Amino acid sequence: MSKHISLSVACPHCRKSLMDEEVKLQGFPSIKLNIRLPGNRGTIHLCSVYECFDHQADIKIDEDIVVDFTCPHCNKELLIKEECQICSAPMVSFVLNTGGRVSICSRKGCSNHYVAFVEISTELSNFYSNYGE
Ligand SMILES: [Zn+2]
Ligand SMILES: [Zn+2]
Repeated sequence: MSKHISLSVACPHCRKSLMDEEVKLQGFPSIKLNIRLPGNRGTIHLCSVYECFDHQADIKIDEDIVVDFTCPHCNKELLIKEECQICSAPMVSFVLNTGGRVSICSRKGCSNHYVAFVEISTELSNFYSNYGE
């Protein structure tokens, strides 16, 4: 268990935490989001452990359906203009409380996800300020 990394994420729009301490998955607080499907809406809890795809939703989500995720606080869409490299569905992005962001594919059953850390761009700008000009 100790090597599991639990991500703590917030909404990129209102910056409020998306973590739900009351619903735990794999022993960690889950990520609570509102979801919209054609003709239906509900709530989903995603496992916050990186590379774990455990989740529970209060509505049925068919395989291969692209899910529309919204913030439970400000109701803004969390889909971004980036396409999944595997299935070309829109990606969903959250900000990490530790800095950086994490993106997941919005299609049910697709395993694409990645963490982009802010440190990488900081390192790059250090590189350019050291070696540029
Ligand atoms: Zn929000
Ligand atoms: Zn995908």
